[in-house]
Order: sequence, then structure tokens, then C-alpha cells
Amino acid sequence: MAAVSDRFAQTAPRVGFVSLGCPKALVDSERILTQLKVEGYQVVGGYREADLVVVNTCGFIEAAQQESLDAIGEALAENGKVIVTGCLGKREALIRERHPQVLAITGPHDYESVMRAVHAQLAPPARNPYIDLIPASGIKLTPRHYAYLKISEGCNHKCSFCIIPKLRGRLVSRPIGEVLQEAEQLVKDGVKELLVVAQDTSAYGVDIKYTGAVWRGNDYRTQLTDLCRGLGELGVWIRLHYVYPYPHVSEVIPLMAAGKLLPYLDIPLQHASQKMLKAMRRPAAGEKALKRIQEWRAICPDLTIRSTFIVGFPGETAADFAELLAFIKEAQLDRVGCFTYSPVESADANALPDWVPAEVAQERRRLFMETQAQISAVRLQRFAGRELTVLVDSVVDDKAIARSFADAPEIDGVVRISNAAKLKPGGFTKVLVTGSDHYDLFAQP
Ligand code: SF4
Repeated sequence: MAAVSDRFAQTAPRVGFVSLGCPKALVDSERILTQLKVEGYQVVGGYREADLVVVNTCGFIEAAQQESLDAIGEALAENGKVIVTGCLGKREALIRERHPQVLAITGPHDYESVMRAVHAQLAPPARNPYIDLIPASGIKLTPRHYAYLKISEGCNHKCSFCIIPKLRGRLVSRPIGEVLQEAEQLVKDGVKELLVVAQDTSAYGVDIKYTGAVWRGNDYRTQLTDLCRGLGELGVWIRLHYVYPYPHVSEVIPLMAAGKLLPYLDIPLQHASQKMLKAMRRPAAGEKALKRIQEWRAICPDLTIRSTFIVGFPGETAADFAELLAFIKEAQLDRVGCFTYSPVESADANALPDWVPAEVAQERRRLFMETQAQISAVRLQRFAGRELTVLVDSVVDDKAIARSFADAPEIDGVVRISNAAKLKPGGFTKVLVTGSDHYDLFAQP
């Protein structure tokens, strides 16, 4: 059997793959890789051994565009045959100007065009019986125990600093039945944590008028609360990302309090000053975020809130920044990221007056992060002496890195476990929290 398998491996065309960008782009990469494997292509790790290379790019901010252009250049230099896809693919002229020799360029979540471009260069091989070895949920680029679940594409908002709607188009939701079936399959394949992602998770289903479906004998509509109800039946960790604080989000908090979903919300608030939120044209800009957070915590005291903010946005005054600092002190958010404003080509915000000098923006960011580090350190102290269930990500010697309900992979802190030689990556375990620093917890099995 090994010999037959090797023969397929030797004859199948080989495709190299570079995946850049956010979790949504990662899901696109997973889909393309799955399709390549299903059609019998070999996916290889090095440029030199590949017959061609697919680069899935990011086009969100200037630095990401540069990284993508560099990655295309590297693939061209090392291999010579390159197909470009992803968000930067929408900027074909820019790519052609820098790299005229790329073979084909397609936009984000356009799997069929990528496959057409691959077929044009490398005919699909004879069908390989070993494709059955691919899990039904497809190829994943995340560790086996967690997976991103993309529920929609695109966005109906027009935030002035963002070009995602221009790159990815308007909101297109995946019907609830399809999403729940995918989630169920991922769990059957061993996933212990599902991370729900979209550009705007709160808007899920509005474009398809909340179409209904039957799953496991029960009715569900394509909307956030029903999605959470369904996912809550799967018995794994469910974590919500990119949620905007609309009133209907309050419906999912009782599900968190009941243990159906992780008590965790990733809400990209971006600012606290109404003037700045209006200039940014943020969704839910008129909502009273602080009041809503306080109401949610009254229902679910353990709720961990993650957010991101932009400082130094055009027109931000010292008073606006002071309002933002006062907000984070009062809101006591758990996990926070902060970026200085960085202009993106063709974003509407470029036309705004009163740009903030770079050194002022940097200083505001420093102050912001210093303030938040203190808040985070104090927030984490509440876990001291508590028993927590954690999901183990890795074990090296007798130390393990794990995450609790309060930690999303890659972006939040972790739980550092000592005397952990017996723990296994990908498993749940109970630990006793012995201490904390600014961002991480320390624990014993
Ligand atoms: S909500 Fe705003 S920032 Fe987020 S993708 Fe849509 S336009 Fe961009």
C-alpha cells in the first residue's frame, strides 16, 4: 500500500502554498488546500519542490500589502510560477506593476477562479483513492483542536478607515444549516474549540432575511442567537469574534451564563468618543457601549471582553483621547489591542482633515497600553486560587501552554502550567491558578 501511495505522490503535480492575513483569509486558504488535495494535487512545503506556488494575500493596511507583495516576489524568485489570490488580488494593477510575471490574479474567497488558474498550468492528476484520508471537514491550517468557523463574507458597513467592503464585497451570509453541519463535522473530526468569525458577526443573516433550516430536528434561523443556540448543542468551546454591540447581542449573554457558549466577546470598539466614532463611521456608533457592557456583566459576571482601538485617527484631539482613556478605565476590558492610525490607499478617511502627527499618535498608544496593562493585571488577579478548565495547546518538558475561556488563540494571553509532563496537547484539563502577571496566568495541574 505504501508503494501505491508513493507512486501517486511521485506523479501528482506539486503546489506550494503561502497563506497570509487574518483568520478569514486562513479559512479561504483551508478551502483552497482542501480542494487541491481532493483533486489529487500534492501540497508541498518548499518553493523549489513545487511546480507552482499559490500566494493568498492580505490587503488590509499598507504594511500587510507590502508583506504580500514581498511574499509574491520571494515566491517568484524561488519558483517562478505564481498564482495570486486573496484581498490584495483586488488590486491587480498594483501587483502587475511590481510583479508583471505572475500567472494569474484572483480576489478573496474566489476558490473556483484559483482552481481554474491552477488547472490552466497543471492538469489535475488521475483520481487518487487516498483522498479519503482527508477529514470530511477538509484541510485545516490551525492545530487539530481548534478551528475557525466562517459564517459570512463581506460587510455592509462603510467604516472610513477600512477598504474591506471594497475588497470583499457586501455581506453574504452562509445559510444556518450549512454552518451547523460544518461545525458538527469539525467536532466529529476532533475539534474542541470553534472560533466564529466574519467581518461583522452581529449582522449574520440580515442579507438572506434570516432564512430558516432544520438541524437535528429543530428549527433555526440564519441569525446570531439561533447560531449560538445550535453551536451550544455541540458540547465544545464556542468563541465569538467581531461582534458589534447591537441590542440583539444581549440575547446571547444568557447562553453564556448557562455555559452553552464561552463567556467571551470580541468587540472591536475602535474608540469611545462619539465624535471619533462618527468620523470613523462605525457600526453601532450610537450605542452606549459602556452601559451595555455593564448590563452584560450583571447577567454573566465572568464575561471576558476583548476589543481593539485606534488612536491618532484624523481629528482626534487631546480631549477625545482623554475620553478614550476614561472609557477603558471604567469599562475594565480584559483583553485590548491598540493601533496607531495607519492610512490605507483608497480609504475614505484619507480625505479627513486634522491628521495627528505620528509622534503624538505613538505617545497616545504608549499611554493607552500602559493604562490597559495595569487594568489587565488587576483583572487577572481575580482568578488566583480558582480552579479553571483549560485547553492545552502545547507541552514541552514539564511545562504546558494552555488557554482558559478568557484566552483566544494567537491574540490573547495564555495559562502557563508547570509540572505538566502528563498533559496532552489538544485536551481539556483542570488547573489551579497560582498567580498572574499583566497578561498571563500561572497554574498547576
Ligand atoms: S465593520 Fe467596518 S471595519 Fe469591519 S469590515 Fe466592515 S467596514 Fe471594515
